[in-house]
Amino acid sequence: MNYESRRAQLIKPSPAISVSIQAKELTRQGIDVIDLSVGEPDFDTPMNIIQAATEAMKAGQTHYTAPDGTPELKQAIADAFRRDQRLDFANNEITAGNGAKQIIFNALMATLEPGDEVIIPAPYWVSYTDMVLLVGSTPKVVECPYDMNFKLTASALEAAITPRTRWLFLNSPSNPTGATYSKEELIALGDVVKRHENVMVLADEIYDQIQYGDASPLSFLAANPGLKDRVLIVNGVSKAYAMTGWRLGYAAGPAPLIKVMGKIQSQSTSNPSSVSQAAAIEALSGPQDFLDEARAEYAARREIVFTALEAIPQLRAPRPDGAFYAYVDCSALIGRIAPDGNVLENDSDVARFLLNTARIAVVPGAAFGMSPYFRMSFATSRKALETACDRLGRAVQDLFAVGAG
Ligand code: PMP
Repeated sequence: MNYESRRAQLIKPSPAISVSIQAKELTRQGIDVIDLSVGEPDFDTPMNIIQAATEAMKAGQTHYTAPDGTPELKQAIADAFRRDQRLDFANNEITAGNGAKQIIFNALMATLEPGDEVIIPAPYWVSYTDMVLLVGSTPKVVECPYDMNFKLTASALEAAITPRTRWLFLNSPSNPTGATYSKEELIALGDVVKRHENVMVLADEIYDQIQYGDASPLSFLAANPGLKDRVLIVNGVSKAYAMTGWRLGYAAGPAPLIKVMGKIQSQSTSNPSSVSQAAAIEALSGPQDFLDEARAEYAARREIVFTALEAIPQLRAPRPDGAFYAYVDCSALIGRIAPDGNVLENDSDVARFLLNTARIAVVPGAAFGMSPYFRMSFATSRKALETACDRLGRAVQDLFAVGAG
């Protein structure tokens, strides 16, 4: 019996999740592994949000809701866009789903035909390419070099657009690099998009509350208000409010697109959990102090990681402006010999070496479409980060003491 369709054969399981499973297995065997592979805040969901969810359950909010979110949730999302980005959306321009991941999937299912192309700047979040493949379309990956701070330029975008281009994916702040586009950069990209009438922009702004400057990064749409009928802003409560397990994401965009996305959701998962919707209302409309506390903690952790990285001459990484990742260039390690005698031929070998020798779990750059790099998450305790960086430094030093392959 063949259990795997051609469609399913096109994709692979999320590599970041695979590394994390490996790390957990080693931990289960009693090995002291520090897991820097996961893409989620280590904080608990703030208590006011948990209380709101509990009260909602007690008050009987345990039934199906409108497929793409209750009117109250949509209102809270609209208010948050107005507060944070000065963007105005009506309820029919907003949709909620089971995580930003499902929202992106709905958008692709809603709009793409076989042969359509989606421009994905690399390094990219691991799921983008596989989601595009799953709906039968073609990811068009554009590498954005280290020296451009991993950002897509207007000329690279112009060169990548063809008559089949339907979407540009723009993730700012970025997973895996933390790169965050300035207003001028967003306008330059918007100007290119304006010249190509069939191209829409999926602005994945899920890390917009985790930033190291003074203000939230500007939304692509706030920088390019003239593109309102061609931009879908994707966001969610997972990263900002430490709510990854609640599975609640949302988007704002043109009403006709939002309607099709809702239709698809109504025939797949129906509504996101009623309890999570109540929790998200509190997250978005309740006290926002948690965001400041989380930002201060991430900033301290970023300092620990980058002070340590700067002391390792064989590695380099730009300081991220947002999110909680370091994307580390490990090209100097390629060709060196690991203690087991194997040559490190690529970044997957480097990640394996770091897991086996330094007992730290990182995700190889191959997963994000740009090598040789690895991604380290600093959404873990300062103490764990200090130990991890220490181990990383020593492992690299030992590698150079052994000799090159
Ligand atoms: N976009 C990016 C860039 C992400 O890093 C993630 C989570 N890793 C998501 C979307 C999905 O978030 P969720 O489904 O938890 O809302």
